[in-house]
Amino acid sequence: MKKYIIVGGGTAGWMSAAILSNVLKHTNVEIVLIESPNIATVGVGEATIPSIIDLLRYLNISLEDFIKVTDSTFKLGIKFVDWLRVDHHYWHPFGSVGGKIDTLPFFHHWSLCYENGLKSEYTDFSPAIVMAKNNKFFIPQGNKANLFSSSDYALHFDAIKVAAYLKDFSLKNGVEHISCEVSAVNKDNEKIASLKLTDNRIVTGDFFIDCSGQHALLIEKSLNVGYQDWSEYLPVDRAVAIQSEKNTSLPPYTESIAHEHGWRWKIPLQSRTGNGYVYSSRFCDDETAYKLLLDNIDGEQLTKAHFIKFTTGKRDKIWHQNCLAVGLSSGFLEPLESTSIHLIMKTMLTFMQMLPSESLHQATIDEFNRLMDIEFECIRDFIVAHYCLSQRTDSNFWQWWQTAEIPCSLKQKLNLFMEQGRLVNNDLDLFASDSWYSILAGMDQKPKDIDPLCHISSLQVVKEMLQKRALALQHSTNKIPSHQEYLQQLIFQKVKTI
Ligand SMILES: Cc1cc2nc3c(=O)[nH]c(=O)nc-3n(C[C@H](O)[C@H](O)[C@H](O)COP(=O)(O)OP(=O)(O)OC[C@H]3O[C@@H](n4cnc5c(N)ncnc54)[C@H](O)[C@@H]3O)c2cc1C
Repeated sequence: MKKYIIVGGGTAGWMSAAILSNVLKHTNVEIVLIESPNIATVGVGEATIPSIIDLLRYLNISLEDFIKVTDSTFKLGIKFVDWLRVDHHYWHPFGSVGGKIDTLPFFHHWSLCYENGLKSEYTDFSPAIVMAKNNKFFIPQGNKANLFSSSDYALHFDAIKVAAYLKDFSLKNGVEHISCEVSAVNKDNEKIASLKLTDNRIVTGDFFIDCSGQHALLIEKSLNVGYQDWSEYLPVDRAVAIQSEKNTSLPPYTESIAHEHGWRWKIPLQSRTGNGYVYSSRFCDDETAYKLLLDNIDGEQLTKAHFIKFTTGKRDKIWHQNCLAVGLSSGFLEPLESTSIHLIMKTMLTFMQMLPSESLHQATIDEFNRLMDIEFECIRDFIVAHYCLSQRTDSNFWQWWQTAEIPCSLKQKLNLFMEQGRLVNNDLDLFASDSWYSILAGMDQKPKDIDPLCHISSLQVVKEMLQKRALALQHSTNKIPSHQEYLQQLIFQKVKTI
């Protein structure tokens, strides 16, 4: 392919441009990004998962510089409040929890010990959550093994500043930027041939990347690939977002608080807090949602309310003919586990591994679509698990969940877990077993039985070891700087190794 055309200048557009231009910068391949000056970006999307750090490394972007420019803070996981029942909370950590004991996943030993009097919760053995609870943060040095080596981290950032950062990066790599709206898509033999702009220019290309957000200008409006609507599994379809004054304690985690008709996010940035309420229009109107959000924000409101509609699901094909959909044009899963920006990266990085040559190869396209289907479906199941295990019945929304039909793949996973605490082995699932165990333990799911191999180890010895480990982790936080201190040290390049 000699010329790639990207339509859209949101997070998806500029992230795609950055990845593509980084790989192809020493070739003659042309990359053009067309962005409408009149159609706003979605303007949200501020919490990530650890793959964002891998992307920065892949692009050779300095973490310090990125954090400084994009108003970023660190994220060690998510605190889920009121999801099981009101006045209860649990954590989803980044990084591992506990580590294997005598070849068995930690969860089995922990649950046996917990049943036999151990007081510590499952995620008390997550170094990331021990730091998060104490508002502490540091990045363990690769060559220095310590109790926190297995923690992991991601970022919260300002979506608009990130798009601007990646734009700068892409322009330096030679990406051409056209600020104009696409008014028509011209096809030739089922493929996209060129785009007509509102200033009457015609832009031709060999391959087209649709980053036009919910407009899905190329993949749907032109190629009509179809959309799988998953709202039968995930009924939330609206969000209202507001920015408010910064939270001075700067927690190194996202908060997700369940409410009557959905859930609310709280994302701390260096200079402000991002807030939003995600709800279902079947159960709640916009005004009620807006009022609930306003009643719950800390500090002064900085922006007007921004209402967003969406339909949970994914395109039938993310790659079709000479068009790839990236970002919201490819589908959307509610931001409960901050997975959309990851999906942008995953789509582009998988595409880079399957880059088409001059002609398109259908088997490659089919394999790409198969992999992306699995990626989306695994994330969907993980999100559904947060809701369907809830004991809440205090509203029509939560009562709906009590009898909701869940995907067969999730049913199979939960059935297997409930028998002996085992999980279906799936290397393509974004969320590793420690993540699943954290949610299942957090939602008070107790398997009927445990893996019999657990009984080979002495319960007393393992229990004492876990008690000591939980205490050691807790005591070691004394040496760790606060999240705020660490950010300052990083920005001023004075990070101390621990
Ligand atoms: C409520 C909500 C909360 C979210 N929170 C998170 C989160 O915490 N973490 C996370 O990972 N993700 C989150 N997301 C998802 C995240 O916001 C998106 O994945 C990300 O912003 C990418 O959006 P985009 O670039 O695909 O679309 P957009 O930002 O909508 O950009 C679309 C672009 O296309 C351009 N365009 C459209 N039509 C035309 C045209 N005719 N001609 C030229 N240009 C055109 C527009 O000008 C714009 O530049 C959230 C999404 C929602 C809805």
